[in-house]
Amino acid sequence: MFHWFQKRRRAQLFEQPFPKNWESFLENNIGHFRRLSELEKSKLRRLTKVIVAEKDWEAHAGLSMSDEIKVTISGIAGLMLLGVDDFYFDNVKTIIVFPQAVRRETNTGWIIERDTFHSGEAYQGGQVVLSWKDAITDARSPGNGHNLVIHEFAHCLDSLDGEMGGSLDFSDHESTALWNRVCDEEFQSLILAVQAGNQTLINDYGATNKAEFFAVCSETFFEKPRQMQQQHSELFQLLLKYYRIDPRNWLPQ
Ligand SMILES: [Zn+2]
Repeated sequence: MFHWFQKRRRAQLFEQPFPKNWESFLENNIGHFRRLSELEKSKLRRLTKVIVAEKDWEAHAGLSMSDEIKVTISGIAGLMLLGVDDFYFDNVKTIIVFPQAVRRETNTGWIIERDTFHSGEAYQGGQVVLSWKDAITDARSPGNGHNLVIHEFAHCLDSLDGEMGGSLDFSDHESTALWNRVCDEEFQSLILAVQAGNQTLINDYGATNKAEFFAVCSETFFEKPRQMQQQHSELFQLLLKYYRIDPRNWLPQ
């Protein structure tokens, strides 16, 4: 889409009122929503409008695409963009939704055998695959550590530098270098903890590879920010800097 045309279309979208039923989808389906500030809420409505309008949405396996599905998924993904301006996951083209988890056909790592069904995937080419059941269950229970939509869209942020490998582009060199070091150390210690059979705050799936590590850490950041701050302080500070938002404000003490 031409830049000026896209800009004009977005401006038109922002002028339109936010539909009442869309507001109730955000309120009822996204646990974080009610604790956002008024300013954050209005920004999330704008983000939601653009993501709903600009992505191709597909439903499969008997699921019918609905406004509720589009608005809920866009709203959760939008939470991740509240700290940045003028970015709407422009690298994501198509969002494909299944009623529930789909069977995974490829084995991507040593820790995978525990599940043969997979609730989501994100591809470098701009496709995101999601299980609606998992997306909505996770979004309605903030604070439990899991959030499928955040996980998959974190992969999409990770892919902005041309590959999904857990390397992030901070605006300054120093933070990027710090991220590389801290991510490496924390990833290695998660592997050791998982191998030792220890309980970890960061989900053990993060030990699969660094891309999964970043995606799982993003879930922890949005879902259990206080515990993350206490147990993985450097990692938490870096994600605070990366996302430019503080999810501690959105969850009860
Ligand atoms: Zn993943």
